[in-house]
Amino acid sequence: MNYAIAIDGPAGAGKSTIAKILAKELELIYVDTGALYRTIGCHILRQGIDPADEAAVVAALDGIKVELVHREGEQRVLLNGEDVSGEIRTPAISMAASRVSAIPAVRAFLLQTQRDIAATHSVVMDGRDIGTVILPNAKVKIFLTASPESRATRRFAELQEKGDPATYEEVLADMIKRDYDDSHREIAPLRQAEDAVPVDTSGDTLEQSVARIRAVVRQQLEK
Ligand code: C5P
Repeated sequence: MNYAIAIDGPAGAGKSTIAKILAKELELIYVDTGALYRTIGCHILRQGIDPADEAAVVAALDGIKVELVHREGEQRVLLNGEDVSGEIRTPAISMAASRVSAIPAVRAFLLQTQRDIAATHSVVMDGRDIGTVILPNAKVKIFLTASPESRATRRFAELQEKGDPATYEEVLADMIKRDYDDSHREIAPLRQAEDAVPVDTSGDTLEQSVARIRAVVRQQLEK
């Protein structure tokens, strides 16, 4: 019987890093749902469309095929057959993804892709609305948070490693804006599911966060 572990929370709380480690340990498929919204954001920017122009974004969905594939244990996202997994990790695409993700037609467009993979595999899925909307029956639900400063510090380090010119102040400001927008949108806002276990990773090392989440997962799976 397939089961799901849902990890939701704001940007930079460590969801993807921790989810990947857990997926490996438990031999589950890791699904990063943010990559799907980023792929749509990427297409919209490439087409020169303003991500805030809802009518134009909805019209553009007709020309998009988004696929999630797993190669050598890693998730890749395909935009009309092209692997864009590397290209979607920029601050501009983060903001575009957040913009388009507030559009109901975009969420509807990506809903089945997410449910299909969880129907056919046991998964660790991370995002913003996995426990609340996509997989309300997930066996384990975790809401991962951390202070904006510790999240921005992590994201800044990741971007620096890739040579991205964004400053810490820009990363922090973008993150605060994106979290505000994600939490205040009308459809599927970022919020903790009633049956989710909250975990705050501020000040934790990665090992400490993983250990805490591993303990929550074990406890929930034994229930
Ligand atoms: O997780 P990540 O930072 O890659 O997500 C990019 C954006 O996609 C988020 O800021 C959010 O607006 C959107 N998103 C969402 N629902 C999800 C995953 C991501 O709305 N399940």
